[in-house]
Amino acid sequence: MLTTDAPRDCFIENWFTSQFKTQADGRTCQTVDKQSVILFPTGSEFINQKDAFKRFGIQAAAHEIEHVVQNEVFNYEMPDPCWFREGFTTYSVWIETSFDKSFVPMANLKKTTFSNLVTSLKKSNIQVNAKIYENWSNEEWYELLNYHPANPICWGRNKDGTVVSNPIFFGYAAGPFITEKLYIDFGITETVKFIKRAGVLNNFETAFTQTFTISYKDWMIKSAIPWLLSGGA
Ligand SMILES: [Zn+2]
Repeated sequence: MLTTDAPRDCFIENWFTSQFKTQADGRTCQTVDKQSVILFPTGSEFINQKDAFKRFGIQAAAHEIEHVVQNEVFNYEMPDPCWFREGFTTYSVWIETSFDKSFVPMANLKKTTFSNLVTSLKKSNIQVNAKIYENWSNEEWYELLNYHPANPICWGRNKDGTVVSNPIFFGYAAGPFITEKLYIDFGITETVKFIKRAGVLNNFETAFTQTFTISYKDWMIKSAIPWLLSGGA
């Protein structure tokens, strides 16, 4: 039996619930002696559906491997916000699979992800600063992407561990666009410097300002959120 000091999602009995039996899913967990391990529900119905696994399972595996890389770079102190944690790994897989014609092209991934995000928001009753989705400014988006109580959704779970109904996976859906804008605005070299610095300082916002000489909030409001809302076009 695997022993971890990771979140409850890493305990197999919590994790291997019905929702994962038919979906591509994995977890990267940390053992008590600071090793990264990747868990997949290999006995699930999903894995037995060969076509489904071909389409989604390989991406899910690559996503989890990216989390291992993250853990190593961040010295196992992976910083929030969630869009960074999940967006970074998701975008990395978009890039990796864009070199292989048997996967979905990057442009389609972006289009589908953005339209799913908007559709989910329209159907949801999420409010930020007492405003519904249609009335949000960049300020509301910023709050939502940074620990707003209405956004417990990085893991698809509420803070008490229950699964959210009608989840909108902001970290996974919005995160890749914001990660992409980091690369566009600052380049890969500076972005890698930032990631390493965030791991050393264990402080996302301080590492951001020190590396990019703009505050995290300013950059989000002026550059990243407009990019996200354009669908990354
Ligand atoms: Zn992930």
